[in-house]
Amino acid sequence: MKIVETFATTRGLAAGIVGLVPTMGYLHEGHLSLVTRARRRVDTVVVSLFVNPLQFGPGEDLERYPRDIERDAALAADAGADVLFAPGVDEMYPEPPVTRVTVDPLGEGLCGRTRPGHFTGVATVVAKLFAGIGPDAAWFGRKDAQQLAIVRRLAADLSFPVTVHGGPIVRAADGLALSSRNLYLSGEERRAALALSRGLMEAADAVAGGETDGPRLEAMVRAVAGEESRVDLEYAELTDAASVTRLHRVDRPSFLAVAARVGRTRLIDNVHFDPRPGGGYEPDRGVRLVGRGMLQGGA
Ligand code: AMP
Repeated sequence: MKIVETFATTRGLAAGIVGLVPTMGYLHEGHLSLVTRARRRVDTVVVSLFVNPLQFGPGEDLERYPRDIERDAALAADAGADVLFAPGVDEMYPEPPVTRVTVDPLGEGLCGRTRPGHFTGVATVVAKLFAGIGPDAAWFGRKDAQQLAIVRRLAADLSFPVTVHGGPIVRAADGLALSSRNLYLSGEERRAALALSRGLMEAADAVAGGETDGPRLEAMVRAVAGEESRVDLEYAELTDAASVTRLHRVDRPSFLAVAARVGRTRLIDNVHFDPRPGGGYEPDRGVRLVGRGMLQGGA
């Protein structure tokens, strides 16, 4: 695997069908599951690693975001990446960008309410990666469900010839959705954070049993999160998976999304609901790690 810092070198190494997995680094099995998926489908797998200042707000964790390129390089190579594109800020933004990509109204709800400008930062850097690398396909995690909807829409609206794929949420064995930010959690906070996935799994059970009422599903998540004093819930919302608008009933592809602060750490999680062929809705609970590096459920 080659480690490169410029768009031009990345393009030079991109042979055949090219797949891109954009990340902010500090890779875990969630990222690596996307690399594995890309590896099965394309000739050249490019993993990008860039902690994008444009998507962090004032007072957020840009400076303390974990960084370890040697560790990331070893993990990406192991998972089958061909190129690790790790640009500096000067390569990504030779000048502060005055051209920005805004995907309103998909970026206004959910996390957009407390992170103004965040999704414009995400959409702008993704558009730059698509334009600068020219991948045929790109893989994003359903962990960031709002982001995935935004990326799909930006690719369609701006006519990027990129097929956008979503991958299931990878969870630790106890249910916690993997995130580079989990590193910030103390032992007590990590235990408390499990209330989020527990609440979502309860709601998933209810949907599997035929429940479709949005407010009742949201209330289940709120009740479980409310049992943990360390969990400060920001939202629990049933959301249309394409338009990212509030839904009152599970009657189309949708997700139940949560965001919460646990101590100083902001966490998000969700469960997707897709129509079943025979009627009803299938919850996608993600996949759980069963041991170090072993994925269960076909990630
Ligand atoms: P990040 O480095 O957090 O920006 O994430 C890079 C990509 O990995 C995004 O498409 C995320 O949605 C995806 N991702 C992060 N965590 C997970 C996870 N636990 N399961 C699946 N995908 C994930």
